Amino acid sequence: MNREAFQCLDLRSAAAGVVSGDFTSRELVEAMLAGIIERDPAIRAFVHVDADDALRQADAADARRGPGGGRLNGVPVAVKDVLNVAGQPCGCASRILEGYRAPYDATAVARLRREGAVVVGRTNMDEFAMGSTTENSVHGPTLNPWNHGRVPGGSSGGSAAAVASREALAALGSDTGGSVRQPASFCGCVGLKPSYGRISRYGLTAYASSLDQIGPLTTNVRDAALLLNIMSGRDPLDSTSVPDPAPCADDGWAAAGLKGMKLGLPREYFGAGLDPEVAWAVRAAADACAALGAELVEVALPHTEYAIAAYYIIATAEASANLARFDGVRYGRRADGASDPYDLYTRTRAEGFGAEVKRRIILGTYVLSSGYYEAYYRSAQKVRTLIRRDFERAFGQCDAMLAPVAPTAAYRLGETTDDPLKMYLGDILTVTANLAGICGLSVPCGLTDDGLPVGLQVLGPFLGEERVLRVGAAYETARGPFPEPHGGAA
Ligand code: GLN
Repeated sequence: MNREAFQCLDLRSAAAGVVSGDFTSRELVEAMLAGIIERDPAIRAFVHVDADDALRQADAADARRGPGGGRLNGVPVAVKDVLNVAGQPCGCASRILEGYRAPYDATAVARLRREGAVVVGRTNMDEFAMGSTTENSVHGPTLNPWNHGRVPGGSSGGSAAAVASREALAALGSDTGGSVRQPASFCGCVGLKPSYGRISRYGLTAYASSLDQIGPLTTNVRDAALLLNIMSGRDPLDSTSVPDPAPCADDGWAAAGLKGMKLGLPREYFGAGLDPEVAWAVRAAADACAALGAELVEVALPHTEYAIAAYYIIATAEASANLARFDGVRYGRRADGASDPYDLYTRTRAEGFGAEVKRRIILGTYVLSSGYYEAYYRSAQKVRTLIRRDFERAFGQCDAMLAPVAPTAAYRLGETTDDPLKMYLGDILTVTANLAGICGLSVPCGLTDDGLPVGLQVLGPFLGEERVLRVGAAYETARGPFPEPHGGAA
């Protein structure tokens, strides 16, 4: 199979081709590996690819060929370096996990494998998923396939860049405050953050446990729906997982249009600081939804201005607790020459964690300390409740909401590295969904004059994935094929 044939496939046609014998899983995986060799040196989306292991998995899938082989039998997918895949390294783009290999499959991965998927390659990310640019990685940054002088977004920037460059047909990411939706927007692919609990977090290295969700990055909305359907549903290994699996995309979704749907435009998401080109692209997408029969209504989310402060208190507080487990004893790297256990912990952590991770552990420890807990952590939790109520009220007036994903298109490389606050503020339009536990989808909706992709964010209520995916599928069909990255010069 040549590259052109590979990169035109969606997940369904890839699976159908293996079943019908049009091609084998080995041919699919070989085409993917050839694409990685050809394109990845310029983009650096992958941090680990074990070709022999991938081909072994492909041959096993070919041996299972037939209708009972599973809905993804033989189809290759890539996985963010934060998810455990048995036998593969799981480094979270951190020095501290050097040499660590996962002893088991994350539930999300196990469910893809149960349907026959082949796990090919681990994608780059911000260390422990902390960041919005994929620059905080021990492996160095991933570059945006649309313009190599720009970041791919983050923290799942490797997954988004791999899909956008068609090195992968689909990839998994994780979204704690936007890390699936924002890189999808920056790279021009589809990214879905499911409702909290929709997909088991078992085997996902924890950043902020009350906010984390695994989500798919794909070339189209139907593929995101398929992966969600396969990965979702109750898992006894994650007590926060919800029982119902998410619905699978139905052929009628796009055809049915959006008649009878009320779509809310949150006033606060179109305010100051929004790049006019982004605003224009998102409003044009909203008009396209209106032309499909939806009624557009303005809604209010009045506590949005407090979201960043609350998010960066809660996320760092949880991170400071979650990352305490990396002590040089249980996982990965251990510092040499320690004189006692305390010395071992501090040396290992000082050498092993990067600057952004340290900044967050310190901030999180501070907001949880006895003198400041009430002032910061408790207040942030109260704000979180107010944000959740904002959404409940607004979803009383509309079925789903349309908004930008990020205030701007992709940043220049290095633009936010010396100014973390600037990077944090760029998360304003995505962290709210994590704080409220609701679902959100990013669908490409335009290009800036500089040729950088812009994403449309579709937000739905808790467990409202079907609505969000319907809107996304109908819009995507009306929009038509999205251009492919031309790559190249900064
Ligand atoms: N950019 C946000 C942060 O740095 C979100 C990251 C994420 O979703 N993992 O925390």
